[in-house]
Amino acid sequence: MASTVKDAILRGRKTVETVVEGGMNTVETVVEGGLNTVETVVEAGLNTVETVVVRGRRGVESAVSLGRKTVEHALLHGRGTMQAAILHGREDVRIEEVPIPNAETGELVLRVGAALTCGTDLKVFRRGYHARMIVPPALFGHELAGTIVEAGLGVTGFAPGDRVVALNSAPCGQCYFCERGQENLCDDLMFNNGAYAEFIRIPARIVAKNTLVVPAHVPLEHAALTEPLACAVHGFEDCHARPGDTVAVIGGGPLGLMILHVAALAGCETIAIVKHDGQVEAARQLGATHVVQATSIRKAISETRALTEKGRGADIAIEAVGAPDAWQEAVELVRKGGTVNFFGGCAVGTHVTLDTNRIHYSDITLRSTFHHTPAICRTALELIAGGRFQAQAFITGHAHLYELNRVFEKLMKRSSEIKTAIVP
Ligand SMILES: [Zn+2]
Ligand SMILES: [Zn+2]
Repeated sequence: MASTVKDAILRGRKTVETVVEGGMNTVETVVEGGLNTVETVVEAGLNTVETVVVRGRRGVESAVSLGRKTVEHALLHGRGTMQAAILHGREDVRIEEVPIPNAETGELVLRVGAALTCGTDLKVFRRGYHARMIVPPALFGHELAGTIVEAGLGVTGFAPGDRVVALNSAPCGQCYFCERGQENLCDDLMFNNGAYAEFIRIPARIVAKNTLVVPAHVPLEHAALTEPLACAVHGFEDCHARPGDTVAVIGGGPLGLMILHVAALAGCETIAIVKHDGQVEAARQLGATHVVQATSIRKAISETRALTEKGRGADIAIEAVGAPDAWQEAVELVRKGGTVNFFGGCAVGTHVTLDTNRIHYSDITLRSTFHHTPAICRTALELIAGGRFQAQAFITGHAHLYELNRVFEKLMKRSSEIKTAIVP
């Protein structure tokens, strides 16, 4: 043990100062982690030692308790590599060996506990890019929760060993939109990708604004639902539903089902309008009062209206498909004075034709909710932790990172899967 400390001293005075500043207990703790670990820590260089040791005993203990392999992986910057999915283009995702990221000032590195597939990722897989969120070649995946293995200088409120969910974006907090509480429209929304990997770097802004500690009783794969659920909660809240209102949701994909479930939990009557058999079952399980499985839009509209008193239409219609004809359908579903939310984003360049008379003389409110805000992300995690939200129902499969291509191919064939948890 002494030779280890001596070793450490020989490696340079400044580093040792840094180690000693962490306190005697900390050094002991590091040494208890074993000779290799100390060597690993010291070899990792000054920044890493500062990062790990100056944080105090708890941090080191957490790092060491994760086991030798993790310590090596997490601390051997420049030497350690990890498996990660890299998006190269259309339907071209490769699992590659890349360096484990460093936590610079204000940043975190997480060991990914679970990353969830998402409709947006599927779109990106099909198209090979996403103008706002990801330009290849790039790390891929954005819904995740994990355990902190490294915290950068200046990080307060988090320590290695903490289980957290880190959102896929964070607003600047300073622009016109942020100052008005519309952070989802931030002029400088920062996105982070790389969830389909063993480790992920969380940028400082996301650490500061959109990283949340996961309550101990919540599995990481459930916590990873925070991001899509935040979008769903946002879309639902924007409709200002009252308990007992009839809410029609078009689309049985992950987000359509989530909005449906949120509306049902809020005490609304819900009508799910879906296409596939598997979605009928899922919608029922998630609290749909009625399920309409129609072969045509005309039929869906008449069947949905028939389910409302005197055929007057739903109080609220939420489109969660992202197709122009479904947007038009949504307008036909609501009653006089009703609210329509065009929640699903359509392809660039698409347009819709709407009946101006109906919209004006029936006093219909049209809105279109995008993304989430930090406050709504917190609401979403509380909903997951609260116990009424059926998180498990949304995760219909598990797969290893190296099966990612197969998982996406399956999702493209419109299987009954809702979300697959990718476990590295
Ligand atoms: Zn997503
Ligand atoms: Zn902003």
